Amino acid sequence: PAPLLDADFYAFQQQLTPEEQAQIGRIRAFLDAEVRPDADRLWEEARSPRHLIPQLAELGLFGSAIPEVARFASSSVARGWIALEIARADPSTATFIGVHSGLAMNAIEVGGSPEQKAEWLPVMARGELIGAFGLTEPGHGSDTAKGLETTATRRTAADGTEEWVLNGAKRWIGNATFADVVVIWARDTADEQVKGFLVRQPAAGFTATKIERKQSLRGVENADITLQDVVVPESDRLPGIHSFRDVAIVLRLTRAEVAWQGIGVAVGAYEAALAYAKERTQFGRPIASFQLVQEKLANALSNITASIALCVRVSAMQDEGAQRDHHSAMAKAFVTARMREVVAWCREILGGNGIQLDHGVARYFADAEAVYTFEGTYDMNTLIVGRAITGHAAFV
Ligand code: FAD
Repeated sequence: PAPLLDADFYAFQQQLTPEEQAQIGRIRAFLDAEVRPDADRLWEEARSPRHLIPQLAELGLFGSAIPEVARFASSSVARGWIALEIARADPSTATFIGVHSGLAMNAIEVGGSPEQKAEWLPVMARGELIGAFGLTEPGHGSDTAKGLETTATRRTAADGTEEWVLNGAKRWIGNATFADVVVIWARDTADEQVKGFLVRQPAAGFTATKIERKQSLRGVENADITLQDVVVPESDRLPGIHSFRDVAIVLRLTRAEVAWQGIGVAVGAYEAALAYAKERTQFGRPIASFQLVQEKLANALSNITASIALCVRVSAMQDEGAQRDHHSAMAKAFVTARMREVVAWCREILGGNGIQLDHGVARYFADAEAVYTFEGTYDMNTLIVGRAITGHAAFV
């Protein structure tokens, strides 16, 4: 087994099997050697780590939650730790994997026919084809369940087969500029329910334009999408998706993983700030010896430790089949709020150097903002918990 993370203060990783610990150790070694050293440069150049796709696939990081295509058996808890490790090295790489493997592959796993799963999941697990997940729209982020405007109209083609015509716009869609398949969520004009469509690329009438000048998760390529009379055969509709409730199943699975990513962001910043505090001297002493600096480090580690405890349990509930939307919503909201405190304290410990990429904290500080906002903002996830405990939905 690999050594446990120092930031795992209560040694939760000891609860993993030796095989799981060894697996995590292998992944950490790869991330330290191949991902972390390049992460600031890719961030600055606003480029996805696409060159790593074959190695990420080889390590089993795509489709690891889907037993039919997973490279190794794993519990949800072990996969959570892996998500933490990836975000600890680079939150953009974690998000790139989260979109392809978490959102796009899970959408096919949850809603796809046996034929669709057989066609897409093995090649996506091998990284030969990359996926994207198009839910958010220019006018609808938090209220996609009710507000989603992209339409899907069924018609009979000239050759007698059934097909759909998609029209609308999407915003913020990760990987969409280079993806081979984009899962598009659209409202059926007949029954008004949200349905899922596998839009193969390139597709006539489909354009994806990279969103420039982002100041968070710059290593993720997000796109504005327009769909103008995009034709999708009935065989590329996800038959297991009947309404937004089914989309929420996918989001529940990925939200718990995003919570783990939030811990990874906090750990990355904490480790850099701790190292800096031991090196940097002021008033003739390492700044790590000052009480106020120690308080920030201790509070950061307390936030990380509480977050790990929460996530270990919410992932175990997934393995037990007991996890509900409000459970993963609480984890996502709580952990990302604690993460945001941690990156701010860590940024502060670095003084002026904290705002410059070269000193190891600025990237996590900036990336935390997007992690706090996507897969349901802090507010929306908190209100999902509020609905569960009061019986009143505050957001409809
Ligand atoms: P809005 O919904 O406009 O919210 C603005 C503010 O209002 C927020 O603070 C929100 O909490 C608050 N608010 C809204 N309604 C309420 C309410 N009822 N009560 C209280 N407060 C409220 N989407 C995809 O589909 N696919 C992707 O791959 C994807 N990747 C992303 C990557 C990045 C880097 C980012 C930034 C976003 C990504 N998203 C993606 C979109 C993301 O899911 C949305 O940004 C998020 O859901 C919030 O929507 P919004 O930005 O439209 O904000």
